[in-house]
Amino acid sequence: EWTREKRLKTRSVNGTLGLGEMVSEILRSAGKLIILRGDLGAGKTTLVKGIAAALGAATEEDVVSPTFTLVHTFPGRKVTLYHLDVYRLETERELATLGIEEMVEDPNALVIVEWGEKFPSLMEAADAEVILTQGELENERLLHIRWRA
Ligand code: ADP
Ligand code: MG
Repeated sequence: EWTREKRLKTRSVNGTLGLGEMVSEILRSAGKLIILRGDLGAGKTTLVKGIAAALGAATEEDVVSPTFTLVHTFPGRKVTLYHLDVYRLETERELATLGIEEMVEDPNALVIVEWGEKFPSLMEAADAEVILTQGELENERLLHIRWRA
């Protein structure tokens, strides 16, 4: 179902922040709902820091893991970034309480969901997915982004 893809590599936290900047425009053009996949420590939240900074929605320091808070909202001038982490959610019912459908109705929204692949409804609705995996070296990360043109 994806028609476009891109693979990128980084060897440091700063490199991942830079990748966030590189992919921010692709994500904006792809749509509003982005699934961010990868194991714990893969660099998902780090990537969102880079995206947020590039979009002018938040500083890198402001973006912290929403694992316990579930949703962080960053209203920027051009883009309102909704940063979610659904790792702790179990059911579609719990997911529904977050109001992702309402977020996506915001014309300036970019909604990025860490662990979104857990929920078929989110995979169905997603405009792009970003997959982060560990590379061969300790600080190396591979990024695979897929979207529909
Ligand atoms: P996630 O949200 O996927 O659990 P985080 O971004 O919160 O991951 O954390 C990534 C961890 O991996 C941090 O402790 C960071 O220091 C470390 N790390 C090492 N190399 C990288 C890299 N290239 N990119 C991102 N994080 C890295
Ligand atoms: Mg995270």
